[in-house]
Amino acid sequence: MMNKTDILVIGAGPVGLFTVFEAGLLGLKCTLIDNLDKPGGQCAELYPEKPIYDIPGVPFQTAQEHVDALLDQIKPFDYDLHLSERVDSIEEIDHEDEKFWKIKTTEDKEFVSKNIFIAAGAGSFEPRRPPNIDDPDKFLSNGVEYAVRSVEKYKDKNLFIFGGGDSALDWTVELSKIAKSINLVHRRDAFRGAQHTEEQMRALVKDRKVNLLTPYLIDSIVGDKKVDSVTLKNFETNEIESFEADELLFLFGLNKKLGPILDWNIDLNGKKIQVNTENFQTSREGIFAVGDINDYPGKLDLILSGFHETTLAVQEAYRRIHPGERVPFGYTTSNSKLQEKLGVKK
Ligand SMILES: Cc1cc2nc3c(=O)[nH]c(=O)nc-3n(C[C@H](O)[C@H](O)[C@H](O)COP(=O)(O)OP(=O)(O)OC[C@H]3O[C@@H](n4cnc5c(N)ncnc54)[C@H](O)[C@@H]3O)c2cc1C
Repeated sequence: MMNKTDILVIGAGPVGLFTVFEAGLLGLKCTLIDNLDKPGGQCAELYPEKPIYDIPGVPFQTAQEHVDALLDQIKPFDYDLHLSERVDSIEEIDHEDEKFWKIKTTEDKEFVSKNIFIAAGAGSFEPRRPPNIDDPDKFLSNGVEYAVRSVEKYKDKNLFIFGGGDSALDWTVELSKIAKSINLVHRRDAFRGAQHTEEQMRALVKDRKVNLLTPYLIDSIVGDKKVDSVTLKNFETNEIESFEADELLFLFGLNKKLGPILDWNIDLNGKKIQVNTENFQTSREGIFAVGDINDYPGKLDLILSGFHETTLAVQEAYRRIHPGERVPFGYTTSNSKLQEKLGVKK
């Protein structure tokens, strides 16, 4: 079955979701496709309960609250969301005497659109597993996790967090408030995360609220159906030490897989897609890249950057659908399409 849509958005992360809002203001309909089983991209998958402090006008939100707010914000507009399927191919076709893009998903669905927005973040991603442990996934959800899905899960538990980046530091600080014991394990005594969070973590170590294990490496996970204990190798002494453990949280980051995007004949810069900053179009007309997936001088991988980018890209998408027309511009308070959908009486 071939579906036609104004903007086909690859990725339902925060930037893909906000695209629906900006497109809706101009009367354009979006179709979103994501290979995850839920909307929200990295926010929902990697750090749903981590606080976000840098959304303008929102002093504090957890990442999942942010996704929920975006879903609320786009409720007035008509859009389609297809989850658990990946966009595999893009091809240019002649359709109704015009050039369109046709995309195909892993579920064999086909869509045609004048505008493709690649809002694919880091690409299809998978958490990195501890390389020296044979099949750690056999304990998945039974003591092994690669992301914090519920803070409650760690209440009064003996928790081991593995990693040396932002996630490991952030969660050590956050979960130290509720865990029975918390151990941060890293192969060296240097961290790649924000200095401020590292300082917070080290202050907690001083107060004996966090046990810092460096330079240590996981040696084995012990348990039958669920994790009972863990053995760690001390790099200084080469000794193997055993610890009682309820929960192991491996925060080694993601394996970013651009996957099919590499085959779409778009100019790349390393693992990112080159765009111009006027309208965030890629090297192929009608294909835009917004959010973390794109690259240009000064690019910052932040949610707010993606919101700006997609707002401008939607303007160009409108021009491509209505050539020669002026793009309507107005503040949301006077946007008739939004007011109508929200049922605001004049
Ligand atoms: C631990 C951590 C903390 C962070 N904290 C903050 C913060 O406090 N403030 C902030 O502004 N930013 C923060 N960020 C960065 C922020 O999460 C990203 O900037 C944001 O998620 C980018 O949104 P996006 O929509 O571009 O991409 P993503 O959120 O990565 O979403 C992209 C989506 O595209 C999907 N996808 C990819 N390829 C395909 C395909 N071929 N077919 C179908 N679907 C596909 C993926 O499954 C994914 O769901 C943080 C990131 C991390 C990892």
